Amino acid sequence: MTQIKERGYAKINLHLDITAKHSDGYHAVQTVMQTVSLCDEITLSPREDERISISCNRGDVPCDESNLAVRAANRYFETVGERVGLDIHIEKQIPMAAGMAGGSADAAAVLRALNHLFGDRLDEAALCAVGARLGADVPFCVMGGTAYAEGIGERLTPCAPMPDCHILVACGGEGVSTPWAFGLLDTRFSNFDGSSYTPRGAECLLGAMKNGDVSGMAARLYNVFEEPILAERPVAAKIREEMLGRGALGAMMSGSGPSVFGIFLDEGDAQKAKASLLEMGVFAEICRPVSQNA
Ligand code: ATP
Repeated sequence: MTQIKERGYAKINLHLDITAKHSDGYHAVQTVMQTVSLCDEITLSPREDERISISCNRGDVPCDESNLAVRAANRYFETVGERVGLDIHIEKQIPMAAGMAGGSADAAAVLRALNHLFGDRLDEAALCAVGARLGADVPFCVMGGTAYAEGIGERLTPCAPMPDCHILVACGGEGVSTPWAFGLLDTRFSNFDGSSYTPRGAECLLGAMKNGDVSGMAARLYNVFEEPILAERPVAAKIREEMLGRGALGAMMSGSGPSVFGIFLDEGDAQKAKASLLEMGVFAEICRPVSQNA
């Protein structure tokens, strides 16, 4: 085995809604997910023994067996019944615990890289099934591109690609724990028992995307988490306002937050908005939609 490099791309949610809460506590979601070019770089290097080590450029990423990249490698080896020793290094650029699926992106990158190393032993569906056991967002990160997702986010239907545009992604240091975010929504919407919340559909958004209509798409972004979470995360709320005030056609929180993305047609506007966000002292990066993992 020689050294392998693979990118783990972040995702944003263009639409995110909850349709029900099941008795096991899981929420049924409907979401449109999009891969963006902001990515972590994963390097897999061979080892003499059969152990797995993990390192990362960021000190707050867990560098032990709990890291999703390590868990992905172990799951892959269990599935194919063979293993090799690996030193995994993650150069992390995706903001952590921000609703951009950074850990899932790393796990998916490891699954893709190992499957390539093992001569594409698993087809995409089988690789996604391995991913689904690691986390709801992993199958999407394995597939990449644009997809409509249901269930807990693992039942995927590919859909028309997001029209090309400049996506400004930003995140302050606020952090959001996903279980806390779901709890906040449960309180507000009576556990999604149908009495106080009616889900929206994603049809108009998907129609605009199919027509390559960036403005129409930007006007139809929706995230059920956005209003309750932004009420609790003032920096994220300010980031969103700043993007809209500086020419974004639409701006919305991704996943359960607190990262926010803005859609721009003009690259110059996106650059100016990025500069003003950097002045606020928050992470900001411009990226593009990615149509498939590369
Ligand atoms: P999602 O959008 O899927 O809800 P997220 O972007 O909100 O995910 P992550 O960045 O994936 O959240 O991190 C969530 C937690 O997972 C982190 O606080 C960290 O402790 C743990 N974790 C495990 N492996 C990784 C990894 N490779 N990269 C980042 N976090 C990881």
